[in-house]
Amino acid sequence: MRIPTHLAEINPRVFAWLPDSPGTWGMANCILITSGSASLLVDTPYTAHLTQTLKTAAYQVLPQPAEISTVVNTHANGDHSYGNGLFPGAEIISTEANLRHLCVEPGPDQLEALLARCQPEDPFGRYLLAHFGRYDYRGLHLAPPTRTFTDHLEVTVGTLTVELIEVGPAHTAGDLIVHVADDGVVCAGDVLFIGDVPVHWAGPLSQVVDACQQILDLHPRVVVPGHGSLVGPEEVRRYMEYVAGLRDRIHTLHAEGLEVDQASQVLLRERRPDLGLWERLAVLTATEYRHLNDVSEPPSVVQALQAAVRLAPESVPETAPPRYTFPAQRDPRS
Ligand SMILES: [Zn+2]
Repeated sequence: MRIPTHLAEINPRVFAWLPDSPGTWGMANCILITSGSASLLVDTPYTAHLTQTLKTAAYQVLPQPAEISTVVNTHANGDHSYGNGLFPGAEIISTEANLRHLCVEPGPDQLEALLARCQPEDPFGRYLLAHFGRYDYRGLHLAPPTRTFTDHLEVTVGTLTVELIEVGPAHTAGDLIVHVADDGVVCAGDVLFIGDVPVHWAGPLSQVVDACQQILDLHPRVVVPGHGSLVGPEEVRRYMEYVAGLRDRIHTLHAEGLEVDQASQVLLRERRPDLGLWERLAVLTATEYRHLNDVSEPPSVVQALQAAVRLAPESVPETAPPRYTFPAQRDPRS
């Protein structure tokens, strides 16, 4: 596992913090957009330690004494927003739907409480401990968006115009993408995963495909996914075809009368060997089945993850790993 201590330069005004950690939950990309002494950060990391590491890396490219004054959250999942509170005084921008969705997202305290109840002898408990128990959520406090929008918003960063475009519901209820037209860069958030089977909570999958089409319609040179390495339009197109293929397959299996767990077993047998975290096929199938069955209540993250563990028991380690592989860390200046 590599926690980057430097930002990757996409161009002289756009930098990315790229954990690029295939096979893991929680290690998401963050993007710093700068112009003069102004800067905007797209997404914040999952823990205080990761956020402090990102901030230290950002100070290496920001002119002194510039501070990050604007944060944008592409969606409300914790791995893209828990670090918000470590940017005191920053304006935090997201969609109206993301602000509403935050109310149903588990906060760091709830996640810690859930992990504290996990039994190592239970496969589901071991899965949660392996993927989420490695992070220390202490030292975080939720900082929700202070400015919201629907549809479209233009933000000025120095001499740059940055467009925020609402593309949800897709991955979650209120996804947005960030477009830096002058530099041909799009920050896709989690409508785009590279390297692992994607996980999509809101759906339907057609909306994820549509969101990716909106990315391509902007004719970007570089696309930053929520997780995984930087890509160009060809990889986005390939990902769209993959998600559309999964959608079509799930619809066929649903029409044939298969139960949701049976359908995800079929997808598992047909999985792409080059992608990690294939237990997430259970979550994708459950998300699409909810739409096909006209289920209106919001998805249960715990039930979805239980289905993932049922689908792929071999993805669960035999013994519970130690807690806090990635420790908490306080800002040394605070
Ligand atoms: Zn994510």
